[in-house]
Amino acid sequence: MKKTIQNIKIEVSRGDITNQPDLEAVVNAANAELASGGGVAGAIHRAAGPELYEECKPLAPIAPGEAVITGAYNLPNRFVIHCLGPVYGRDKPEDKLLEDCYRNALKRAEGKKVKSIAFPAISTGAFGYPIKEATMISFNTILAEIPKLKHLQKLKFVLFSEADLEIYEAMLAEV
Ligand code: ADP
Repeated sequence: MKKTIQNIKIEVSRGDITNQPDLEAVVNAANAELASGGGVAGAIHRAAGPELYEECKPLAPIAPGEAVITGAYNLPNRFVIHCLGPVYGRDKPEDKLLEDCYRNALKRAEGKKVKSIAFPAISTGAFGYPIKEATMISFNTILAEIPKLKHLQKLKFVLFSEADLEIYEAMLAEV
């Protein structure tokens, strides 16, 4: 599903964040150490290759809500933007920290004049953030940031499951 909002194409689609060759940057649902692991971080580090972690090491650790940008190595993109989402029930206030993730990721992208970016559903896997609340936060934050972005033309949410896709589609239909 696609929609254009203030000249930015917003798309939601089911897929794998490591297989987004049409987008300049992909966002990693990172861990504090910016290392490989499970979920999105594991998939990104495996696909990018060991040089990614070499670039990440001196940038770690990062705090919840922070984002850093690196090269993408063997991924078909130019940049990876690593965001540390809040662990639901532990890192407070979790809504504000999740907002910070999306806002800081977009700031990092803007700093490199990124024209297109893909986001996974940050914090909704191992970190346990309920998907509906997280979806609302991601849309609200991105819509609030859009007027400030000079370079971004396309933003895609890449969802791993059909159930998550349906929640994102319902949200995009509403805005
Ligand atoms: P977090 O630790 O921030 O919760 P996870 O990587 O565990 O991050 O999960 C975040 C979301 O990304 C979950 O909805 C999960 O299903 C999804 N996900 C896992 N692997 C991939 C992938 N390769 N591409 C896109 N989304 C993925």
